[in-house]
Amino acid sequence: MKDSPKTPGSRQKIATAQGVSSLYRHLFGDGRILVATHREPVVWVERSGEEAKKPVSGGGRLRYPAGGVSQSLHRLLLQTGGDWVALRSSLGPDPLTVRLPEQPASYDLHRITLSDERVSSGYQRFANDLLWPLFHEEPGRVLSVEGDFDNYRRVNALFADRMSTLLQHQHNGFVFIHDYQLALVAQRLRPRISSPVPPLAFFWHIPWPRPVFLEAIPERAELVRGLLEHDLLGFQTPLYRDRFLEAAGEILGKEVRIRRNTVIWGERRIHVGDYPIGVDPGRFESLAQSPEGPLLARSFLRKAGMDPEAPFLIAVDRMDYTKGFLKRMEIIDRLFTRYPEHIGSLRLLQIAPPTRTTHAPYRNYQAKVREAIEKTNARWAQGGLPPIVTIDETVDHRTLAPLYRLAAGALVTSTNDGMNLVAKEYLASQKEAGGTLFLSRHAGAAHGLRDAVLIDPYDPEGAAEILHRTLGEPLAIRAGRNRILREEISRHNIYEWMESILTEVHDTKERA
Ligand code: UDP
Repeated sequence: MKDSPKTPGSRQKIATAQGVSSLYRHLFGDGRILVATHREPVVWVERSGEEAKKPVSGGGRLRYPAGGVSQSLHRLLLQTGGDWVALRSSLGPDPLTVRLPEQPASYDLHRITLSDERVSSGYQRFANDLLWPLFHEEPGRVLSVEGDFDNYRRVNALFADRMSTLLQHQHNGFVFIHDYQLALVAQRLRPRISSPVPPLAFFWHIPWPRPVFLEAIPERAELVRGLLEHDLLGFQTPLYRDRFLEAAGEILGKEVRIRRNTVIWGERRIHVGDYPIGVDPGRFESLAQSPEGPLLARSFLRKAGMDPEAPFLIAVDRMDYTKGFLKRMEIIDRLFTRYPEHIGSLRLLQIAPPTRTTHAPYRNYQAKVREAIEKTNARWAQGGLPPIVTIDETVDHRTLAPLYRLAAGALVTSTNDGMNLVAKEYLASQKEAGGTLFLSRHAGAAHGLRDAVLIDPYDPEGAAEILHRTLGEPLAIRAGRNRILREEISRHNIYEWMESILTEVHDTKERA
């Protein structure tokens, strides 16, 4: 259960970035927010011609990479101001002032350049080829060499050093560090900040695995100690939170005491909570319904060789093995085998931007997925039309939201997933339409969306049966289910997530 339960309607819900900004001011006064993430929230693109004359963001144009949470934090910082530290992936000045017209504030983006290729690849390997597969319980995909952990620690130290310089020169209200790539930042940061130390919060976005998977990490005690350097540690679900508490007790033994959701470690008390990340439902609803939305979606479908009036399912995922692409092909195969009435009448649109293509395990996986798609298409094509259409590039939310709305269903087949925002975005885009979310029971989202139609990608036969049955349900049933699910995502939206974390970290600090 969530540790600070709120009865629906017990107080005004904060439904906008402005609302969170006011709450922040109320709790932290004029202290600045300092955010740290592995990836930059915006990408700086050189402008040319007339565009270069516009005085926006230091002579560059900003592009937004795909990703829900960092975009929401970015919108918050455009209300409150603050600083953001991330690895550099684009050109432009450092710091880069991110300013958008009609936003009350701007923030400074400080980019860390990794000039030593060995350090950079060791850090990436430890994070993406060891932590990522183990925390998603895929030990067979681990690929790491000796020395990677040292480089991981080095890059985390670079973050800490940059952040401590910022903290020395200004009054900060709150420090918010994100995800498995930055677990050791606070360890180096805390002793470098002269008091008063602002509250340090950390959010772990991916699953926390069963104990056996941690045993494969020799440095697990250091990782857990690194996380305990924060005042607040957030996880996506109660299950991941509880597994962390158990791991802290088992790995650190007598060093720690666990009291409900608090770890007592020396003089310090660390609050460990579950805060399921949500979306901004209003934004998706209005994008899905905007006058140009259906035009964009229909033209997208035509370009993809699909009939905009014909039923289709949608799947939107980076091409990562945790998203279950191969299982998805098996489900489609089972569906057509057992229920041939869908052949030629139901297609799947997969939006699948490639990810981590420089990593060999990913390249191999992506090649296997392409082969499986080709096989499925060759087997089930009708009238020259393949049942699966794959778009291997990023599609922006202006087009995605109306596509979600047109789709008869969304297929989420993750074999393990911290949350899965696509599931919530799909629901937010539905309104009265009766499209069905088919949600993997192994996605964190399945924890809060108890009324969703759950499938198990490890049981393709069962999943195909559920798809067939649900697609044939009367609209009233599908729409009724969506009403309940949409209430859930409205209640637990991205602003409520930020509100819970800000309030809890403030209270934790007060108690300390
Ligand atoms: N996304 C997007 N365009 C794409 C593919 C994905 O904007 O072509 C966004 C998607 O809308 C969602 C995020 O990327 O906001 C993916 O988040 P999710 O939690 O589903 O998966 P993750 O990639 O974080 O594992």
